[in-house]
Amino acid sequence: MSKKLLLKDAHIEGIRYFETYRKQGGYTAAEKALKMTPDEILEEVKASGLRGRGGAGFPTGMKWSFLAKPEGVPRHLVVNADESEPGTFKDRYLMEFLPHLLIEGMLISSFTLGSNVSYIYIRGEYSWIPDILEEAIEEAKAAGFLGKNILGTGFDCEIYVQRGGGAYICGEETALLESLEGKRGNPRLKPPFPAVKGLWERPTVVNNVESIAAIVPIIDITGAEYAKIGVGRSTGTKLISACGNINKPGVYEIDMTITVEEFIYSDEYCGGIANGKKLKACIPGGSSVPIVPANLLLRTVNGEPRYMNYESLADGGFATGTMMGSGGFIVLDEDQCIVEHTMTLARFYHHESCGQCTPCREGTGWMHKILKKIEKGEGKMEDIDLLWDIQRKIEGNTICPLGDAAAWPVAAAIRHFRDEFEWHVKNPELSQTQNYGLAHY
Ligand code: SF4
Repeated sequence: MSKKLLLKDAHIEGIRYFETYRKQGGYTAAEKALKMTPDEILEEVKASGLRGRGGAGFPTGMKWSFLAKPEGVPRHLVVNADESEPGTFKDRYLMEFLPHLLIEGMLISSFTLGSNVSYIYIRGEYSWIPDILEEAIEEAKAAGFLGKNILGTGFDCEIYVQRGGGAYICGEETALLESLEGKRGNPRLKPPFPAVKGLWERPTVVNNVESIAAIVPIIDITGAEYAKIGVGRSTGTKLISACGNINKPGVYEIDMTITVEEFIYSDEYCGGIANGKKLKACIPGGSSVPIVPANLLLRTVNGEPRYMNYESLADGGFATGTMMGSGGFIVLDEDQCIVEHTMTLARFYHHESCGQCTPCREGTGWMHKILKKIEKGEGKMEDIDLLWDIQRKIEGNTICPLGDAAAWPVAAAIRHFRDEFEWHVKNPELSQTQNYGLAHY
């Protein structure tokens, strides 16, 4: 059984309220941290090996150490709660059921970074969560854990919740900052990075909800102890939101030493494929990461078991591996049509492109049109090569990672499931009435 650090108290009734959270030992990590110096806390975070849980997996301690500290210029912590990546809903779970874990993590992080005004930017579709967060902020303030002169340390901290308007692109950190400033959420060119010029051109750290929540157990048990959980550079625990054709969709906390096979088939986690079907493929890190067929998902090309951690999932690069990404684990059974699935994703990315760069603005729409054509049985063999060519021209040629996020699913689908694309082209009549998966199994 995986060790639980974040969700250990999630089952306790009333844990979303201060009184119950406090009774369970809540805010003791904050009390401990506020007796340390910001540099000491930073060293603990570095020692923990925590990697950003939003998708990129960049070391959090290193990110914090890049924060510029010019004299007299305010600094900010911004929590990215935009969580719009299809298949990902673990931050929603944390905010809905354990809001004080996030607030406590924010207090410790704000103290470390010197942020007196910190923000939570939350996606508009999570319409009921801002009230939960604001209530938790008020409770923490009433108990002296936010506001002026927190616990007599002289440190002041306010936290504000800002609702987004429902644009996927506002999960990209610079688009988020633009939106937080009241502007259209267009990603900025980098450099300068937010650590130097972020919110209102002030040094800013943008971190995912889960990353900030993880600061609480790190301070609680120490960075060194946190680093002992997991394996290699995949330290600590990770939240996975599992969905698709499985028996037990939900949010699970894993310690990154379990195999993918165990995660899918064990009753402790996904409980196997629904309706007794066979596993066909999986997207383990949110819709932007490459899809992998069952044979490469359960084992690497060397026949080694594939593990639920950053390194093992990526083993073999994009040719045979994938990425941990945001931890949005989407499972597809044998009945699913990969062409239809890829077309749905292409439509999403085209709709969500902000339109600033040509390869993304035009390429995503072009890919969607071609995929629609193939899926309807109106495509030609050369369309598959054209699709491959378009995704290659998008990847790496855009301002922000949305371009890559749109290209990778198409590339992986063609790489691993070209036969399905060809079936649609060769069987125009069948592909209008049948799903490839259902027709083949
Ligand atoms: Fe906008 Fe797409 Fe360019 Fe990102 S890659 S800046 S979403 S057009």
